[in-house]
Amino acid sequence: MKFETLAAHAGRRVDAASGAVVPPLVLATTFERAADASLPHGNLYGRMDNPNRRALEQALAALEGGAAAAAFASGQAATMGVLHALAPGDHALLPLELYYNTRGLLDQHYVRWGLQVSGVDMSRPDEVAAALRPNTRLVWVETPSNPRLIVADIAALARLARQAGATCVVDNTWATPVWQRPLELGADLVMHSTTKYIGGHSDVIGGCVIARSADQPVFQRVRSWQAQGGAVPSPFDCWLLLRSLPTLPLRVRAQTATAGQVAAWLREQPQVERVHYPGLADHPGHALAARQMGGFGAMLSFEVKGGQAAAAAVIARVGLFLRATSLGGYESLIEHRFLVEGPNSPTPPGLLRVSIGLEHPDDLIADLAQALQR
Ligand SMILES: *Cc1c(COP(=O)(O)O)cnc(C)c1O
Repeated sequence: MKFETLAAHAGRRVDAASGAVVPPLVLATTFERAADASLPHGNLYGRMDNPNRRALEQALAALEGGAAAAAFASGQAATMGVLHALAPGDHALLPLELYYNTRGLLDQHYVRWGLQVSGVDMSRPDEVAAALRPNTRLVWVETPSNPRLIVADIAALARLARQAGATCVVDNTWATPVWQRPLELGADLVMHSTTKYIGGHSDVIGGCVIARSADQPVFQRVRSWQAQGGAVPSPFDCWLLLRSLPTLPLRVRAQTATAGQVAAWLREQPQVERVHYPGLADHPGHALAARQMGGFGAMLSFEVKGGQAAAAAVIARVGLFLRATSLGGYESLIEHRFLVEGPNSPTPPGLLRVSIGLEHPDDLIADLAQALQR
């Protein structure tokens, strides 16, 4: 079935007890056993399983072309599920430009627990090949990257990881399964912050890990961490996320079309030094993105001439764009990443990151136009 059809139907069935076409919310923390202690309804205990969570996991696996998924209480908890599958002394290879808190998790916590961590430019497979070590067990890919939309070649990196005996994981949060399906390109696992496009309404924190096959040993460890560690989403979080899936392809298509218009307009503005958007023909990752993605996504960033002070003045003047962290919702957001990340940030001080929502492109462009005026 096509993506839109899966988005509308995967994980859903008419409730046998009531006939409800929308899955009922099951809040029970525990489920009935038979006299011989078996589980006739297939559910054990809310940390291990829940009908709303199972439905969400089936749907997410279907949308990524995977066999199984494990849902978590946040994207970071999903990342921890993958990192906990590693052992002390293992080496994890990461992109130089990486989601800010993924780096924080590794540097502040996992290194203390004996994980070896190093960074490499993932847009250069030759450098990745040279950075692999005999004990490399994880190649973490994030493409397009945050905040400069650097594009990495998933198929090439998955091949290198496989030759090295490492698991290739792709954080597919920014690209979304609408535009990019890493498992089809050879990755072993996909990770999402479902807080972003999958939720789409800025009202749920969540995450997931999706596997090509349910019996991959690394995924079984992720499952065990989910059930035993317990960083699981509530039934209502799962219900909300499943509610959001039928509109995912429509939202992402509309947001992407608007992002392309905004990026093209920004590039013509004399106050703008650079626009980072893989849909622009002169973006360094454009050809690769055109090959491995069905669309260029709805995230972009731009650097204002005049650096930090000029960017601060622009973000102070926006009216329609909301100044807030996060992305993927129906409302457009803008953020001065350098100020958020602090003085040691590698992000250019004049860079503004934008998440394009579902507003009309003319209104978004008008807001940026008045904010760029001095
Ligand atoms: C938001 C985000 C995360 C973390 O997800 P949370 O749901 O906030 O824990 C990880 N990776 C990327 C690319 C993100 O945008």
